[in-house]
Amino acid sequence: MAHHHDLLVFDNVTASYGRRPAVHHVSAVLPCGSLCAILGPNGAGKSTLLKAMMGWLPFEGRILIDGLPAVQHRRRIAYVPQRDGLDTDFPLTVEEVVAQGRFQAIGALAGFTAADRAAVDAAIQELGIDDLRQRPISRLSGGQLQRVLLARALATGADIFLLDEPLNGLDVPSRRELLDQLRRWTTDHERIVLAVLHDLDCLAPWFSHALVLRTHLVAAGPVAEAASPERLREAFGAEVAAPVLPRFSLAGATVRR
Ligand code: ADP
Ligand code: MG
Repeated sequence: MAHHHDLLVFDNVTASYGRRPAVHHVSAVLPCGSLCAILGPNGAGKSTLLKAMMGWLPFEGRILIDGLPAVQHRRRIAYVPQRDGLDTDFPLTVEEVVAQGRFQAIGALAGFTAADRAAVDAAIQELGIDDLRQRPISRLSGGQLQRVLLARALATGADIFLLDEPLNGLDVPSRRELLDQLRRWTTDHERIVLAVLHDLDCLAPWFSHALVLRTHLVAAGPVAEAASPERLREAFGAEVAAPVLPRFSLAGATVRR
């Protein structure tokens, strides 16, 4: 599913709970094929921005996909929730969870067609979880569960994916594996992925873009400029930057304070 000239545009977006803005004046442009990190300290509005994109929260300004308000392209967007908020004690298999993606797309009361079956199979294949099909989700590692959630999102037919802290709780090898996969997943298929990140170690070499928040927009654009040491210090503050920045490297060059 290629949409070659599609763009995701945030135009002066301000989203509020009640009267208090949780994230404000965000403007950014993301081309197709971009893997964008959403960065910022706790409470910076990262999750809120994703919720606004999903239409779960009122906002001012515009969020455009391909020049149209995102609500009109609602089916092209899939939200992948944080794993630690999920109840995995449910007696569901991997295949059943991926199939939920189709029910989201077609509505729970519609019949499951051959096309739905094909979409589920394709998503399972692409995420490399074929051997896990019949496994209960209670018996998956964090990395496996994350791939199942991505497959479910893919099965909806979306091509814009919003991931809230997908790397949390994964060990280093699983993180790298997932990041490699997200990179291929995005660039090879002209999708857009926005992922809320906690760990700046995970930026390079995977992410092409960054959107840095501190309730207001600190920076947005190609990762080298938007997530420069100056911008990150501006977002996180010197005290947080101290343990973070020396480990952060871009294009092989270790950034010092
Ligand atoms: P982040 O994901 O960057 O940690 P959030 O987007 O979750 O931050 O939150 C941004 C701000 O909005 C915070 O001040 C938070 O307390 C507030 N907030 C988040 N969710 C709600 C809610 N459901 N009702 C009211 N305020 C909220
Ligand atoms: Mg959050």
